Parts: sequence; structure tokens; C-alpha cells
Amino acid sequence: MPLAKYGVWTPSAGVICFKCHGPQFNSGSYNVNSEIWRELQKEQPLKKGNAITFCDKCYSAIQLIESVAEEHNMVARLRETGIDATMVQTGGMCSAGEIPISSGYYLFTYSFDGDKTWWVVEYDEEGIPVNTVEHLNTHTADAMFESLVKLMNICEKKETEPPGSAS
Ligand SMILES: [Zn+2]
Repeated sequence: MPLAKYGVWTPSAGVICFKCHGPQFNSGSYNVNSEIWRELQKEQPLKKGNAITFCDKCYSAIQLIESVAEEHNMVARLRETGIDATMVQTGGMCSAGEIPISSGYYLFTYSFDGDKTWWVVEYDEEGIPVNTVEHLNTHTADAMFESLVKLMNICEKKETEPPGSAS
């Protein structure tokens, strides 16, 4: 069974380990000398419903709720290919990955309601959903990654073509 420390999804859309976060939380503080705080610094067996990702600050492996972990891994994978993806808070501590485009942005989520499906929705600059990219809904991260890269290549081509140059 894989082992990883527990991670935190923060109100500022960070994905970090408890050590990098520190003991202060909005809901209260941990006593740094307590057993529970020491336990949070240790690797634990992967909990059901969690997946493994990494800490934004120290890059150590951490586990947290599957939807956030998978989106965070997708953001990292997209960034490696030069796509400017980031994690965002979507209200009520819900998570999504965001990719900016000239007309607004794409939001992608994994397992939003526990269905283990990837979704992509296009939003305009005002944050109004304009298009659910239906054909991109998929169960596998690999298929989602390839689709997002393809989608961004199409977007970039459109953006670099001067108006009226389409033949
Ligand atoms: Zn860390």
C-alpha cells in the first residue's frame, strides 16, 4: 500500500503538507508538541477516497481527497508542457484546474460529485459558462490530458492568426 503524509487544500488554492502549512488554521491551531501534530508529519497508508499528489512547497508526496489530488496532478502535467494551468477555489472549498484563454478560461474538475469523471467547462471573461466541452468528459487522466493539450493547441493557433488571414 502506498504511503504518504496527509496534505491540506488551502483557501488560497494551495496544495501543501502540514509541515509547510504550519499549525495555524482558520478553525483553530494545533499544538506543535501534540501527538496528533507529530502524526500529521508522518507517512500514513493511503486512505480510501484519497489519492497521492505532491506539496507545492517542498514537493514531498502527500495524500488528500482524490478530486483535489488528481486535478493538482493534472495541473502539474499541463504546466510541464508549457500550458499555464493553476488550481483554483470554486466556492465552498471546491476545487478545479483553470487554464486561461483569450476569451475567458477553461475549468476542469475530477469526480466533482464522486462519479470519477473529468469535466471541462468553458467560461467567458465574466465567468459565465459558455460551453461544456462534452466530448472531453472522460474517466481517465491520460485521455483528459491529451484532450486538453489538443484543445489548447487549437486555441493558440486561433489566437496567433491575424484577423482576416484565414484562407
Ligand atoms: Zn511541504
